[in-house]
Amino acid sequence: MIIKSFYLNSTREIIVKIVKEILVLFKVNIDENATYADYDRLEIINEVSEENRSVKTTLILHKDDKTLSFNRISYLHADESVKAGINRLIKLNLYHIFCEDLRKKTAPWGILHGVRPTKIVHRFMENGLNREELIKRLKDDYEVTAPKANLITDIAYLQLPFLEKARDPRLISVYVGIPFCPSRCLYCSFPSSILPSDEVTAKYLKTLRYEIEQIKALIDKYDFKVQTIYVGGGTPTSLNENDFDDLLALVAKSFKSDYLEEFTVEAGRPDSINLEKAKSIVKYGADRVSVNPQTMQDRTLRLIGRRHCADDIIRAFKDVRKAGIKHINTDLIIGLPGENEADATDTIKKVIDLQPDDITLHALALKKGSELKLIRDNIVLPDDETVQNMSAIMTKAVADYGLIPYYIYRQGYMSGQLENVGCSRKGSEGIYNIQIMGERQTILGVGGAATSKIVYPGKRLQTSFNAKDLYTYLNSIDKYIDRRKTLLKDAYGE
Ligand code: SF4
Repeated sequence: MIIKSFYLNSTREIIVKIVKEILVLFKVNIDENATYADYDRLEIINEVSEENRSVKTTLILHKDDKTLSFNRISYLHADESVKAGINRLIKLNLYHIFCEDLRKKTAPWGILHGVRPTKIVHRFMENGLNREELIKRLKDDYEVTAPKANLITDIAYLQLPFLEKARDPRLISVYVGIPFCPSRCLYCSFPSSILPSDEVTAKYLKTLRYEIEQIKALIDKYDFKVQTIYVGGGTPTSLNENDFDDLLALVAKSFKSDYLEEFTVEAGRPDSINLEKAKSIVKYGADRVSVNPQTMQDRTLRLIGRRHCADDIIRAFKDVRKAGIKHINTDLIIGLPGENEADATDTIKKVIDLQPDDITLHALALKKGSELKLIRDNIVLPDDETVQNMSAIMTKAVADYGLIPYYIYRQGYMSGQLENVGCSRKGSEGIYNIQIMGERQTILGVGGAATSKIVYPGKRLQTSFNAKDLYTYLNSIDKYIDRRKTLLKDAYGE
């Protein structure tokens, strides 16, 4: 729907943001220079009554001398905070107007736009709702479809024992970031750069060593127990064999203890892993590796700038298995340029033939900072219906293979209005993936662009970001270390 001008009776950032989310969901494009427009003007007026705990939303469309007007009124629940509830009701009212009055297609996730949808389910559980009640709330309050409501509820229940364990404030995780890759993928929005010169890489590793030593001192000071280690990026295996081995030796020496339950290393780009690096991973006790095909279609791999082919993926799997690594995760992306249901069928079959232990199905997200977003108009992406069909094909194949969903997250602008779902066999779930999404555990991140999340008493969360820019990270490392020291002191005491 193309509209020439738009009015909202609020300039508050959060209200503008949530209304924009609904307009994006229903593909409403505001363009004052459009040569054709469905309507000249769209007006959205929200009236909040704190006394009645209600929100009335009116949507008015103007075209020439005609005016269409629709409205909805909704009420807050007794157990809902006024602030969060008002935001939800504005979205819900608009959603109902678009679907029921303007006859737009409903969305699988309704108005649930958060990155971590299971957090809502965990909150409902804490409020004492049983399974039936919380599924009803997801459907009524957020217009989530029954399959998605069941999916996040199943995942939320599966995660409970892991989150229960995270109640121990001394049990933490550590993330080590290597923000380098062999080349840049078309869809990448991460602050990762192509592996720099030997000199800059050496400087990075020296700074990282210093940061690891400082964080190790904090871990000792607070008597933390490291439950999981995750070496990610970027692509850590972009480093040469010696640097990679030295890095893992340092990480293992600094963070491994009897409390460690999981040690993951990302080898996302199959062209960056070989038998020697795989042996280093085993030598230092890492037990999980990610080898990420994204697709098994060579023409797509070329198009998205991966600089490897499907055969490289098969070779990488062999090396990793030969080295003795127990658990291999693979990431796939649904909705890549030019792909369709036949590609999805072929890719998932070839991936399952490799017998991975864990499969994460991502829906392509068109994110700011990615080249794909910039060249969007020159590339053919599958439409929502095709992406949803591809997702159904892969989801069924993964379930038939015996894996079950155990973590989920969503991003903005996801193809097919879908989600990212990690699946594994029961009992071999990735603990780090659950903890990072659950946000109940302190996670200390080291390295360029790494994020630390410090959990305060009462579950309040404070986040600290290392610089995304490589040179800012190298030149200001003490600033980032000090920020974590301050947060830890606030959360855990002196
Ligand atoms: S491998 Fe990952 S981090 Fe590296 S460029 Fe591709 S999407 Fe970005």
